[in-house]
Amino acid sequence: MASIFTKIIQGDIPSYKIAEDDKHYAFLDINPAAEGHVLCIPKKEVDYIFDLPAEELSALMEFSQKVAKGIDEALEPIRTGIIVEGMEVPHAHVHLIPIYEKTQAFS
Ligand code: 5GP
Repeated sequence: MASIFTKIIQGDIPSYKIAEDDKHYAFLDINPAAEGHVLCIPKKEVDYIFDLPAEELSALMEFSQKVAKGIDEALEPIRTGIIVEGMEVPHAHVHLIPIYEKTQAFS
């Protein structure tokens, strides 16, 4: 059965697209941790990020880096942080989360 994210890539589940290339898709998280929280995924359905062959993991990171730079330009957060997949959706993904406020760790 197709993963939720594969259904998003196929357009069966609507999403707000941020970027796309032949192998990757980036879209807004439905339950954002901050404004501009984006998920970057490989179009190939692989359950976990470390199941990707090294060159595909590297390509996903390069795609994510470009998207993060776009977020930084558009929304001007302090920076855009990266978190790799959590526990909910078994389709490899990267969370890009803009950070807008300084915490104690920054001071
Ligand atoms: P994780 O697997 O990393 O814990 O979280 C998966 C992320 O996918 C969550 O932040 C959740 O809000 C997001 N998500 C789950 N289902 C959908 C969906 O149908 N559309 C969008 N845009 N995001 C989703």
